[in-house]
Amino acid sequence: MKATLILPAWLIANAHQKPLHQWGVRVVGDSIQAVAPNDELRRQYPGDERVEAPNSVLSAGFVNAHTHLYGILAHGIPLSKAPSGFWPFLEEFWWPLIENRLDHAMICAATDLRCAHMLQSGVTAFYDCTEAPNALPGVLPAQAEVVRRHGLRGVLSFEASQRVSEDNGQLGLRENADFVDDCRPGDGLVSGLISTHTTFTCDAAFIRQAFALAQERGVLLHAHVSEGTYEPEFALQHYGVRTLAYYDRLGVAGPGFLASQCVQLSDEEIGILADRGVRVSHMPLSNCEVGGGIAPVPQMVARGVTLGLGTDGYIDDFFEVMRGAFLIHKANQLDPRLMPAHVVWYLATEGGARALGFEKVGRLEPGWKADLQLIGAGLPTPVEEHNLFEQLVLYRNAADVEYVMVDGIVRVAGGQVLSADWPALHAHTHEAAQRLWAQARVD
Ligand SMILES: [Zn+2]
Repeated sequence: MKATLILPAWLIANAHQKPLHQWGVRVVGDSIQAVAPNDELRRQYPGDERVEAPNSVLSAGFVNAHTHLYGILAHGIPLSKAPSGFWPFLEEFWWPLIENRLDHAMICAATDLRCAHMLQSGVTAFYDCTEAPNALPGVLPAQAEVVRRHGLRGVLSFEASQRVSEDNGQLGLRENADFVDDCRPGDGLVSGLISTHTTFTCDAAFIRQAFALAQERGVLLHAHVSEGTYEPEFALQHYGVRTLAYYDRLGVAGPGFLASQCVQLSDEEIGILADRGVRVSHMPLSNCEVGGGIAPVPQMVARGVTLGLGTDGYIDDFFEVMRGAFLIHKANQLDPRLMPAHVVWYLATEGGARALGFEKVGRLEPGWKADLQLIGAGLPTPVEEHNLFEQLVLYRNAADVEYVMVDGIVRVAGGQVLSADWPALHAHTHEAAQRLWAQARVD
C-alpha cells in the first residue's frame, strides 16, 4: 500500500496539545500510521514518498459543521428593500426569492463551486442542508455526484418542513430517508442524515416522525434551533416552553440530535444541551448577517457541549469563520480571555467532527483518518509553540492552504484544488445565479 511522509515545520496533532516542532506523519492508505519527529520518519521509512514542507504547519482538515451550499446564489441578488429582522429575512426574502425557486441545476452548480472553495480553505469534511421545496425529489443524489467528484467527506440532507404543505413535508422526509438508505456504510465518503427545519414550520408529529426515521437508520436528526428571537418566543407562546425544552419534551434532545445555530438560549437550555449530549454547530458570521444575535458559545464550551463551527453557506474562508468565533465573544462578553485560539482550532477540527459523528476524524494521530492540510507559515513574527494557534487564527486565509488530503487522497497540491476548473465553475454559478435573480427582478 502506498505510504507518504508529510514533513512540516510544525504539527498540530490535536488542538488540546502543544504544537510539535519538526514533527510529521506517515500516511498509509486512508489513515495516519505514525506520528514522529521528521528525522525519525525519514530514517525509518526511506522508501516512502515525501512531502517536504519546511515552512508549513500540518493540521487536521477543517470540518464545516453546517452549510447551505446553494446559499452562494443569493449573494448580490437585487432586493427592493433589506429584510428588517430574522422573521422578515425568511418570510419576505429567503423563502420566496431563494429557496422556493431553486432547481437541481442551480443547486449542483453552487455545490460544485463550493466544494472547490471548501478544499481551497482546508475543509475536508462538511454537513450540508439543502432547502428547496420545489427541487424534490432527487436533489440529494444529484448533489452527491458532485461532492464525490471533489472527494470531500460530506453529509448531505434535505431540510423537510410543513411550511409549503403536508405532502411537501413528507416528500422532504422521504428524500432524506431514501438518500440515507442509498449511502450504505463503507460506500464512500458521502452519507446522509434526516433534517427538519424548526418548531415553527414542523409540528410535533412531524418532528417525532423525522426523529424515528433517523433513529431507525442510526443517523442524526438535524434542525435549526433558535437562530433568532422568533423561535423561542413562538415556542413559549405555542408550547409553553422555550425551543430546547420543547425538543426535550418530544424526546429528541440527546446525542441523536444535531442542533445548528443555538443563538438565543436560556441558561436552562444550555443545561439541556450539555446534560443530554445534544450536538451543536456555531456560525458566528452568518448569525451577524441575519441579525440573529450572538450565541452563548463560551458558556457552551465551559459546559462541555459537543460543538463545531460552520459557515452556514455565508463566507467560505474557514479562517474568517474562526476569526469570527475568536473575536465576537470577547467583544460581546467584555472579556479578552474568552475563546482562546486553540479552543477555536479544536472547534474547527475535532469539535466539528464529533458534532457530525465522524469516527477518528479531526486529529492527526495513529489510526485516525488522513484528512489533513498544510498551511503556509510565513508569518509576521516568529512562530513558537506558545503563539502558533493565535498566529494561524489571526493571520492565515484560504490562500495560505498549500496541500489537502482527504481520506488519504491528495485534493490540493501546490495551493491548487486539483478538481477545480475555476473559469467553468464560475461560469456555471453565474448562469445559475442569473436565472435565479431574473425571477426576483420580475417581482
Ligand atoms: Zn443554516
